[in-house]
Amino acid sequence: MRLTTLGTGTISLAAERVRAGHLIEAGEVRLLLDCGSGVTHRLAEFDVPWREITHVAFTHFHTDHVADFATLACAWKYGARFGRATPVTVIGPEGVTAMVERLLAAVDERIDEMRFPIAVLEIAPGQTLDLGDGVLLGATKVPHTAESVAYSVSRGGRRVVYSGDTGYDPMFGEWARGADVLLCECSLPTEVTIPEHLTPEQCGAIAAAALPKHLVLTHFYPPVERIDVRSLVAAHYAGPVSLARDGSTFEIEEG
Ligand SMILES: [Zn+2]
Ligand SMILES: [Zn+2]
Repeated sequence: MRLTTLGTGTISLAAERVRAGHLIEAGEVRLLLDCGSGVTHRLAEFDVPWREITHVAFTHFHTDHVADFATLACAWKYGARFGRATPVTVIGPEGVTAMVERLLAAVDERIDEMRFPIAVLEIAPGQTLDLGDGVLLGATKVPHTAESVAYSVSRGGRRVVYSGDTGYDPMFGEWARGADVLLCECSLPTEVTIPEHLTPEQCGAIAAAALPKHLVLTHFYPPVERIDVRSLVAAHYAGPVSLARDGSTFEIEEG
């Protein structure tokens, strides 16, 4: 498996970080986790074969996680030389079908007029979907919005867990236990935090419960860039930590 962090920013616009988007390549599966604005640009910039994305999974419906999906769908419809023929599966928590319909309606498009097979599936917390080629996608509830979920992607005995946006919940650390990579949001310093997001200290506490082989942090608001995230995390969790940038890649050898 390979994880590429395409967009490591937030709705607070930043030059170096576009909004949320992370790609997992596992076997034949090309899974885009969230698709905030700027992610389609990063797909092109980092030479990702965007026509070959097989699945898109949304963690929740905040604009910094969904806004570029209309662009991506239209790129598949109009931007590929002969259009796209291969199917795409779009996955998200309850309400994802209506959300995708609204996004496409805003640009005068419809799911059933995409010219390529597209399926939209709702995933419930606790449910696991088989994405094909041995790839399983699991979801669990996280405290952020009513619909928010975190995902786990596993194949060949390896597991990547992505928090999406979340507030602090020890249960999430338990759920993520033993992940090879825990891709975790790290939004705000303690001084300005809100219950819907994590501080570096809380990322460390979650990692202390989850004990991932590698903790990869993402979703940085500008104020958190000005503090020493590594030392705050290290007070709780001694394992390897990376602060992802747009375009970072992480290889996970399958067993
Ligand atoms: Zn967000
Ligand atoms: Zn959010």
